[in-house]
Amino acid sequence: MAKATDSGQNIAIHLEDLTLIVPASEQYLQVAIPVPMRQSFTYLLPATLAGNPIQIGERVIVPFGPRQLIGIVLSVSDTLTNSDIDAAKLKAIIGRVSDNYRLNDKLLTLLKQAASYYHHPIGDVIQQSLPVLLRKIEQPNLAPELVYHCQQELPPEALTKLEKKAPKQAQLYQLLSQHPKLSWPELRTLAYSKAQLNALIDKDIVAQAPRELKPYQYCADDINCDNKHTLSAEQAVIVAGLKQRLNQFSCHLVEGVTGSGKTEVYLQTIEAVLANDKQVLILVPEIGLTPQTLSRFEQRFSVPIYLHHSALNDTERLTTWLAAHNDQAAIVLGTRSAVFSPLNKLGLIIIDEEHDGSFKQQDSFRYHARDIAILRAKQLNIPIVLGSATPSLESLQNGLSGKYIHHQLLSRAGVSQQAKLALLNVAEQQMDNGLSGSLIAAMKQTLAKNEQVLVFLNRRGYAPALSCNECHWRADCLRCNKPYTLHFGAQQLICHHCGDQQYLPRQCPSCGSIRLSGLGLGTEQLELKLAELFPEHSVVRIDRDSTKRKGELAKRLQAINDKEHHILLGTQMLAKGHHFPNVTLVAILEVDSALFSFDFRAPEHMAQLLIQVAGRSGRASKPGQVLIQSQYPEHPLLQDLVNNGYQHFARYALTERQQAQLPPHSFQALIRADANYPSYPEKFLTDVANQFRQQTAIQAVDCWLAGPMPAAMEKKAGKYRYHLLVQAKSRKLRHRAITELLAIAPSSESHNKVRWSVDIDPLELTW
Ligand code: ADP
Ligand code: ZN
Ligand code: ZN
Repeated sequence: MAKATDSGQNIAIHLEDLTLIVPASEQYLQVAIPVPMRQSFTYLLPATLAGNPIQIGERVIVPFGPRQLIGIVLSVSDTLTNSDIDAAKLKAIIGRVSDNYRLNDKLLTLLKQAASYYHHPIGDVIQQSLPVLLRKIEQPNLAPELVYHCQQELPPEALTKLEKKAPKQAQLYQLLSQHPKLSWPELRTLAYSKAQLNALIDKDIVAQAPRELKPYQYCADDINCDNKHTLSAEQAVIVAGLKQRLNQFSCHLVEGVTGSGKTEVYLQTIEAVLANDKQVLILVPEIGLTPQTLSRFEQRFSVPIYLHHSALNDTERLTTWLAAHNDQAAIVLGTRSAVFSPLNKLGLIIIDEEHDGSFKQQDSFRYHARDIAILRAKQLNIPIVLGSATPSLESLQNGLSGKYIHHQLLSRAGVSQQAKLALLNVAEQQMDNGLSGSLIAAMKQTLAKNEQVLVFLNRRGYAPALSCNECHWRADCLRCNKPYTLHFGAQQLICHHCGDQQYLPRQCPSCGSIRLSGLGLGTEQLELKLAELFPEHSVVRIDRDSTKRKGELAKRLQAINDKEHHILLGTQMLAKGHHFPNVTLVAILEVDSALFSFDFRAPEHMAQLLIQVAGRSGRASKPGQVLIQSQYPEHPLLQDLVNNGYQHFARYALTERQQAQLPPHSFQALIRADANYPSYPEKFLTDVANQFRQQTAIQAVDCWLAGPMPAAMEKKAGKYRYHLLVQAKSRKLRHRAITELLAIAPSSESHNKVRWSVDIDPLELTW
């Protein structure tokens, strides 16, 4: 059964006659299989399948219990090296996937290193690095990808008419006339709709054609210099430093305030890398949220850019993977898992907003894409750039200690000025629906000047709790022991921890009263209040609820830039990367919970979010201001951040971490366990900790255990959660300790009663 597509991308599979009883050959394969076991498995290579020499990284079909799975060959040998294995009982592989898409040796080595560092099963690590369609036995029949181009030049009158009648279609026409051969995933990411595209196709203005699949070759015309800036002295030093080191490993931390021209630094460095006939990998926190990111790369480079992010379907993801593998891609722009893109000629990695939490995967294989990217750059001997206005303390420490090359961009590029931050003491003021009098006055002033206000409240829904005014009953999710969030529009109670949904009760289930009301303020409620307070101004809300519908976010962002709205209200979705030139006032309603969190990273994350939100203000020629409401304006952390900026705040926070021996001055791992009863995870982790303390030769001053203790959110979705924290003086000692702990774990009697996992360099300690 061989399938081939006319695109030249042959995906074929040979399931050699399965019914034959195959004679054992002399070859043994180590195969990584996607099962939650920390080992690879040995299989025989039957002579019938040994026609072509088998290669490391190849995909094979193996029997596993009653199932058949796709595995990856890790090694091939002529002898059975492991004497525990009974050769007579070994099973043979069933088939080989003969499409030539194998993991190259370097990528495979990287994945093995990652599996070892994160103590995660190699089979799962490899599988997570592959597109879903390459993990299936049933092979995809890939049609060639379509790209779009203009097939006629519109006369000026026709264009003016189109601009009036259908402005988005006119924009799309102009985009495609400048950049022929854009694919649907690119157009969609740039916030165009299928309807707009089809309308142009129906009018015979735009046509589609299969993408030509040939390896990318650099040509000087591919760089569009129209909107290239002359670099500032600060920028020029960074670009020159990078260009000098294109053929060696070096890690560059670019600490540059928002709007300081980091992206321009990336663009001009990328140019040099492409000219060297190398490929570039750019990782960003989110793509769907910020069409501008892709747009800036498209404007500068007429090269094949492939996207990799969660809004792509499986076929689109495979297309990107194959384009990287077959050298057709010049640039891969993607989110976290794009770090595993099989680019063969990689010459530069860029991690934009390197501090962003989304680079860490928070389930199963809990890797940090930034850290894996650094490993990859080292392995390939190429430079890597970490950019952020608010670097993580981990990266900053490495910058300050000289491990990374540390660059600073201290002022905004072009004409715009850094916005001024100020604290508003809400303890002393009359509050109106969460807004202080002085904030309302400042908003009025800004709106009167016809400028926009951004209000940031990181809590979606109508109110974070529902309670009875008479008996004080509160609607709690019994699976999490936390209040439900009231969603008034949807008439629902939703648990933001486990997703459980309930109808809004009409009466208190405890006393029968109908006087139920929301406690606290969420964005849904604030939207209504703002509309009441500022009746002559239009309010737009941007959060996950208001932008659920496809295309809704793009529509709202466009309306903001068209100045249809004056007040922008939203959660952290509004904080990331957007460029709103007319916003001159940013109001931050709540920061206090981070000041008293027991997670030692809470202030760092609060400061990063706050500075990123603040960075939305005054990005164009008009100066911006940022007002932060707090009950504790005297708090030293807030004072430091507001008066001295993130740079100072972060350096001070690092000295505190050093005194407390916390990361990055020590190295942590978290063992999490959960079960339906609290005694199970507690017993399991106690057994493991006790046994470890008894038998380990590692000195307690070098590596110590904290716990077991219940997670800050002890119960979630009906499961009780416990933690055991491992903290060590070095990565090496931590590795040794975790290896010992993993060997001990199965000996606990409670081992099978709990679900447990290891998180290396955990970022979230509260759950
Ligand atoms: P960042 O990535 O640090 O937020 P950007 O690269 O987006 O900053 O730059 C912010 C703005 O300044 C952009 O509009 C960009 O075009 C402009 N810009 C960048 N570098 C320069 C420069 N050297 N001269 C003038 N304008 C610049
Ligand atoms: Zn009641
Ligand atoms: Zn819940």
